Amino acid sequence: MTPDGGDLRRNPVSGKLSIVAPARASRPADAAGRDAAAPPCPFCAGNEALTPPEVDALRPAGGEPDGPGWRVRVVPNKYPALAGRHEVIVHAPGHEAELEDLADGTLAEVLGMWQRRIAAQLDGGAAAATLIGNVGAGSGASLEHPHEQLFATPVVPPLLLDELVEAERYRNRYGTCVVCDGLEKAGDRLVLDGPVGAWVPAASRFNGELWLAPAAHAADFRAADPAVVAPALRRVLAAVKTSIRGAPLNFWLHTAPADLRGPFHWHLEFAPRTSTLAGFELGTDIALVTKAPEAAAAEYRAALPRI
Ligand SMILES: [Zn+2]
Ligand SMILES: [Zn+2]
Ligand SMILES: [Zn+2]
Repeated sequence: MTPDGGDLRRNPVSGKLSIVAPARASRPADAAGRDAAAPPCPFCAGNEALTPPEVDALRPAGGEPDGPGWRVRVVPNKYPALAGRHEVIVHAPGHEAELEDLADGTLAEVLGMWQRRIAAQLDGGAAAATLIGNVGAGSGASLEHPHEQLFATPVVPPLLLDELVEAERYRNRYGTCVVCDGLEKAGDRLVLDGPVGAWVPAASRFNGELWLAPAAHAADFRAADPAVVAPALRRVLAAVKTSIRGAPLNFWLHTAPADLRGPFHWHLEFAPRTSTLAGFELGTDIALVTKAPEAAAAEYRAALPRI
């Protein structure tokens, strides 16, 4: 039986949001390492019966839902943060396949599925849809089979709301887009040039934080060409993972909410977790980073696969 989702609450003192989801405490964990006694992986091909019924899949050669033959499979999270709004996107049937291991054509199919699921959630009434990836032990991933998760929310999450407000403020002041300018003016912090660029923000929240965005202004990830995004994402992910040498990595996609009224520019943010948040950060909401963004960018450029 699928446990109920959590409860979205707002702290009236700080205005900060929490989802209280005690059922998630009972989810199994194998990300710390599998052993002979570990249960079979629910995301591997052949184990489809171990997940809730799928909500979407790519089966180029046909086949029945909840059977093998898929290349990308989407299932509801068995332990949802919010019921009905929390999906798992298994981007490959193989247990070891990281996103950056996929061929560009296959990765483009995965990105197409990200777009399709975001569209399904936004068209289904969600205010916003946040796609995230937790990579590696210590990142928050509870199952080691690589996957992404989509969190649709009935509210625009505060971080996205902050970005919408800042985008509007910046446009009113300078007449341009804050993300377009961030990429164009990255200078020594530029990691990847091209139709989809990547750079380390001057005011990073994490050591080695990296952003990826289309060079041409675009608010909605659903309108992006997956064939153009795939090679950039693959190269950037490979560079980050080479550079951070096994440290946990979180990434997330910020795309336009369902009801976009002002300017926005979709982007992916990559947050290597090479240090832990401590009292100062938690007590002030001011990030403290010790790595110069220019130095992080130079490391990433050196680690970038040539093609
Ligand atoms: Zn697996
Ligand atoms: Zn822009
Ligand atoms: Zn963002």
